[in-house]
Amino acid sequence: MTRVVIVGASVAGIRTAQALRMQGFDGTITLVGEELHHPYDKPPLSKESLTTDVPPHLLTQDELEQLDVTLHLGVRATGVDAEARVLHTDGGDHAYDHLVIATGVSPRTLPGSDLAGVRTVRTADDATFLRERLAARPRVVVIGAGFIGAEFAAAASAAGCEVTIIEAQETPLAHLLGDRVGARLAQLHSTHGVTVRTSVRFDHFVGDTAVEGVALADGEVLPAELVVVGIGANPATSWLEASGLPIGNGVECGADLRVLGHPEIFAAGDVARWPHAHYGEPIRIEHWTNANEHGALVAAGITGGDAPRANAPYVWSDQYGHRIQIVGLPSRGALAHLAGEGPEDLVAVYADDLGVVVGGVVVDDPRAFMKLRKAVTKRTSVAELQPPLAPAPVPA
Ligand SMILES: Cc1cc2nc3c(=O)[nH]c(=O)nc-3n(C[C@H](O)[C@H](O)[C@H](O)COP(=O)(O)OP(=O)(O)OC[C@H]3O[C@@H](n4cnc5c(N)ncnc54)[C@H](O)[C@@H]3O)c2cc1C
Repeated sequence: MTRVVIVGASVAGIRTAQALRMQGFDGTITLVGEELHHPYDKPPLSKESLTTDVPPHLLTQDELEQLDVTLHLGVRATGVDAEARVLHTDGGDHAYDHLVIATGVSPRTLPGSDLAGVRTVRTADDATFLRERLAARPRVVVIGAGFIGAEFAAAASAAGCEVTIIEAQETPLAHLLGDRVGARLAQLHSTHGVTVRTSVRFDHFVGDTAVEGVALADGEVLPAELVVVGIGANPATSWLEASGLPIGNGVECGADLRVLGHPEIFAAGDVARWPHAHYGEPIRIEHWTNANEHGALVAAGITGGDAPRANAPYVWSDQYGHRIQIVGLPSRGALAHLAGEGPEDLVAVYADDLGVVVGGVVVDDPRAFMKLRKAVTKRTSVAELQPPLAPAPVPA
């Protein structure tokens, strides 16, 4: 009987197990995950999980039982012997015919992050800790104005906290979306009373056992009883260091997510770097939809089924009651069209040097977003776009 072992019990790992069963796989599936919780979803952790303790389960207990997987929760994978086809964990070894690496990313931290009151937002335990802390209305500093930091700032502000975001760039999100769109989205913070300090560098945390403030490079200290560090994440591959697998910025894979040089091993989700069908060259994407879709691609590789169609990258963020949606890779182009007056009615289209639409950002406009997604997928020329994705034609 064919044995599949999956490491990582989050969206990429669970969707792989589900897709295997959907595609008729009748071998054994072993799922190893280092967290003790029933498999849960991560996007709610910086959103509704900060106000409610309803666990964002990825599947019900019944669905889990029907999957017929052997689940090892609270177990950490420690290495792979690719020649012997054995996964090592701190709870014992697992022989496999196919191994799926779905270990996601680990949040970057700063020196002193072990002080009480300093936290990243990555796990259900983080969300529980932060929700409980927000109830006491601490002064909050968020380090990093990326999406997770921004969502946490919005939740902390809604909970009645005084919130300051510090950001090293001159404009938040400029590296992803450019200055003009980054500046528009940053207005969401200021209109909700959240202070955004840009071109500011963290120096150190102040406090002996619990955080009391954040010292900046110029010597200023921002007082805080709660600090969230949101400065990005690195692929969770340290456990694979001695495995001989090709590891760079993630696990290096082919188009079908097979690890290069190891046809029996796959990677999926945030940890995988692979030639995306839409781009041809290897990229690594930290979006929920990507991890969700990878499951079916990996399962097709294992069962010999048809590979699903690849979609353009898509990510959303919920802040202050607004939904920001991003499709494609805006950083691959330049801003070709920007509509709306403020952050709430923003529509931004990005095109490459040839005038082909490569990405876009929309706030609170699902219909405009659907059109934009189609334009990115079909590689439409900006010249062919109609309002609201292009300026309205001037009447003759
Ligand atoms: C707070 C937050 C908010 C987000 N919001 C959005 C959003 O709004 N929209 C969006 O598109 N995306 C969002 N994302 C990103 C999205 O959640 C990820 O892209 C997605 O979770 C990736 O899934 P994954 O299964 O690849 O990895 P992960 O979800 O990171 O799961 C990997 C799992 O592997 C486990 N693991 C790691 N190493 C080991 C090991 N050695 N042994 C055993 N287990 C291990 C980890 O504990 C973890 O449970 C958000 C992420 C976070 C953290």
